[in-house]
Amino acid sequence: MSLLEDKGINTTPISKLGEFGLIDHLTKNIKVKNASSVKGIGDDAAVIDVGDKYQLISTDILVEGVHFDLSYMPLKHLGYKSVAVNVSDICAMNGVAKQITLGLAMSNRFTVEALDEFYEGIRLACEHYGVDLVGGDTTSSTSGLMISVTILGEVEKENVVYRSGAKVNDLVICTGDLGAAYLGLQLLNREKEMFKENPTMQPDLSGNDYVLKRQLKPEAGIKYIKILKDLNITPNSMIDISDGLSSEILHLAKSSKVGITIHEDKIPIDYTTMNLANEFNMNPITCALSGGEDYELLFTVSQGHYDKFKKDADFTIVGYVTESSEGNNFIAKDGTSHLLTAQGWDAMKE
Ligand code: ADP
Ligand code: MG
Repeated sequence: MSLLEDKGINTTPISKLGEFGLIDHLTKNIKVKNASSVKGIGDDAAVIDVGDKYQLISTDILVEGVHFDLSYMPLKHLGYKSVAVNVSDICAMNGVAKQITLGLAMSNRFTVEALDEFYEGIRLACEHYGVDLVGGDTTSSTSGLMISVTILGEVEKENVVYRSGAKVNDLVICTGDLGAAYLGLQLLNREKEMFKENPTMQPDLSGNDYVLKRQLKPEAGIKYIKILKDLNITPNSMIDISDGLSSEILHLAKSSKVGITIHEDKIPIDYTTMNLANEFNMNPITCALSGGEDYELLFTVSQGHYDKFKKDADFTIVGYVTESSEGNNFIAKDGTSHLLTAQGWDAMKE
């Protein structure tokens, strides 16, 4: 398959490195040279010094068959989600989103009316998040739809928050609740399979509005950024939860050169998520840790802020920051401690 292989040169499958290993590998020799490039690769958005403020820039690509399935994802929702997931990365820097550009590649099976629907979703999201669509690119693709959104945002210089600022003894706080988007996806997949077997059957999605909404129409955490601003709190570190809590905990810990311990009984899970997980015979905690697409925010603040967060339903203190020598740990409900891995926790190791 590979061109290099044809020439007898040793090759490495991408799967051997994984997504983050691949990014590290490809970018290890990239150095930023311009003084205005304050933060390059390695955070939720790049940070550029444009004078009074910092400009934030981030890109996210959504690919048909990988990130979405048009048999159950309405195009309007897809448009909305394409913007929301990018706004989420600007929130993760404690910033405010301002503009997007939109790159589209689509196969000829898409009609103008279908793309109108998609753009209606883009428009609604832009309106909701106060973002302007200021450009993009349109081209054809041989298979399916590809959406690439680049977002620009801004933040006052003193308020920018990186993944790398967590300090030992910080509280680790998560917004909203977790695992719902993943269960929404499981539900949609199940109904799709049943429909394939019996096309006359109507999908049964009743009572599951919340998880479906979390999957089909996720929202970025602008309200939490505003609350933090009103509380006059700038977190020490922050990341958005796009890949599951455990993966993001590991990113924060690695960037900040600290360890993080979280407690199973603190992880916020909505009761409808809980019920559906039981129906699917899944552990809801596993859905929260490795499910992904919740687009909540995970941040750390110093212990002095404990009183401001302990009773607020929007925020849950899930753990605390330790020295890096302590590693990343998951304390189960029974009190046992396990190593946290990108997939969840390793129940085999103490
Ligand atoms: P997020 O999940 O917040 O969107 P990613 O995990 O996609 O972030 O990316 C991690 C970091 O790697 C970001 O700083 C991103 O800009 C950078 N990155 C991702 N892909 C590439 C690439 N192909 N080339 C250069 N930098 C990249
Ligand atoms: Mg992110």
